[in-house]
Amino acid sequence: MNTASKPRIVVLGAGFGGLELTTLLSEAMGDSIDVTLIDQSDCFVFGFSKLDVMFGLKTPQAVRLPYKNYAKAGVRMLKRTITSIDPERRRVTTNDGVFDADHLVVALGAEYDFDATPGLSGTNEFYTVAGAERLRDVLPTFRKGKAMVAVCGAPYKCPPAPSECVLMLHDYLVRLGVREACEIALVLPLGSPVPPSPDTSRALLVAFAERDIKFVPGRRVASVDNARNVAVLDDGTEMPFDLFLGVPKHQVPPVVLESGMAENGWIPVNPRTLETRYENVYAVGDGANTGTPKAGVFAEGAARAVATGLIAKLRQSGSGSLYDGFGTCYIEFGGGRIGKVEVDFFSGPAPTGTYYEPSVALRADKETFGSSRRSRWFGL
Ligand SMILES: Cc1cc2nc3c(=O)[nH]c(=O)nc-3n(C[C@H](O)[C@H](O)[C@H](O)COP(=O)(O)OP(=O)(O)OC[C@H]3O[C@@H](n4cnc5c(N)ncnc54)[C@H](O)[C@@H]3O)c2cc1C
Repeated sequence: MNTASKPRIVVLGAGFGGLELTTLLSEAMGDSIDVTLIDQSDCFVFGFSKLDVMFGLKTPQAVRLPYKNYAKAGVRMLKRTITSIDPERRRVTTNDGVFDADHLVVALGAEYDFDATPGLSGTNEFYTVAGAERLRDVLPTFRKGKAMVAVCGAPYKCPPAPSECVLMLHDYLVRLGVREACEIALVLPLGSPVPPSPDTSRALLVAFAERDIKFVPGRRVASVDNARNVAVLDDGTEMPFDLFLGVPKHQVPPVVLESGMAENGWIPVNPRTLETRYENVYAVGDGANTGTPKAGVFAEGAARAVATGLIAKLRQSGSGSLYDGFGTCYIEFGGGRIGKVEVDFFSGPAPTGTYYEPSVALRADKETFGSSRRSRWFGL
């Protein structure tokens, strides 16, 4: 640690993990530390907002939370593209400057590997804001035929999101008055929609059956033949489609791959402390291989563990709390109803989930989940 000046903490990525981590550090340490938060984007967007944009429930403008509203004591937020990371030296190079850290936290999330699935880049996806915006214009033109929501690899962000997408698509087509003329299918590499919670999975399967949505578990789309409008699954099965809504295979961003920090697409960490194999270098959120789901609520939990660990270290008092692997996810069931599942990965010998039936009342909880972060991070 550089003892001559304030400890320098550099946090890469201002998503769920980076925003929560720097907020906690600021709350606890204020100006006594020197925190630099770097992101290439000029705004944050909640993952679930992509579904709202896609189905025309919110405008793209309404879901953008500008980083210019992020102001925390002791934290310098910079708009830069990170071009290389040297984890041994804790040195980060950007398009505008080099940053050296006493403590480095990689919170750069997961990106999409379109090339891993031949033909995928010729289709629609709903996991980026740009893809969701494109679909907002494509969906009104779909009046009949076969729609499929298809996942091209696991792990992927927010395991319930593809299930939410088919249920929201059903409602959308009902509203358009064309549901009878359309078929909906969901292809998922998991054996069930939410594996840690059999009750949640059962409820989703009932909802699919009630709406005549075909569910294909345990399979991923291996390639897309755009000339024939056919998706080829990993067992060779061909599924014809008129509307393809894809979830690309995920991996850490290229700059993390090039840093040598990743193995098999993800950064190995101690799942309870988020330490990487490099001294004073941590990874939180979707990019870290903790065994917990790739979801914002889990990125926050990991950020909490790193924040408490760093605060203890900097104050030279006590020790941090461990990452608990606990998270609450809200699930759109359609018809304006929201279900909830609380998942616990680390308390027992196997992950468990507690399911709460969908209701209109739970929508208020989901809205509070979003608005509490909006006001905590951005004061909005
Ligand atoms: C459709 C959908 C629905 C979802 N629903 C939910 C939900 O209901 N609840 C939930 O908890 N989660 C949900 N998620 C998942 C959630 O959005 C992610 O898990 C969460 O954002 C991960 O946080 P993170 O901090 O790891 O990464 P991110 O939030 O992705 O942040 C990473 C940041 O790194 C920046 N970055 C990347 N590369 C560079 C670079 N080279 N230079 C500079 N900056 C860079 C990016 O701009 C980004 O801001 C959903 C996701 C999707 C796609």
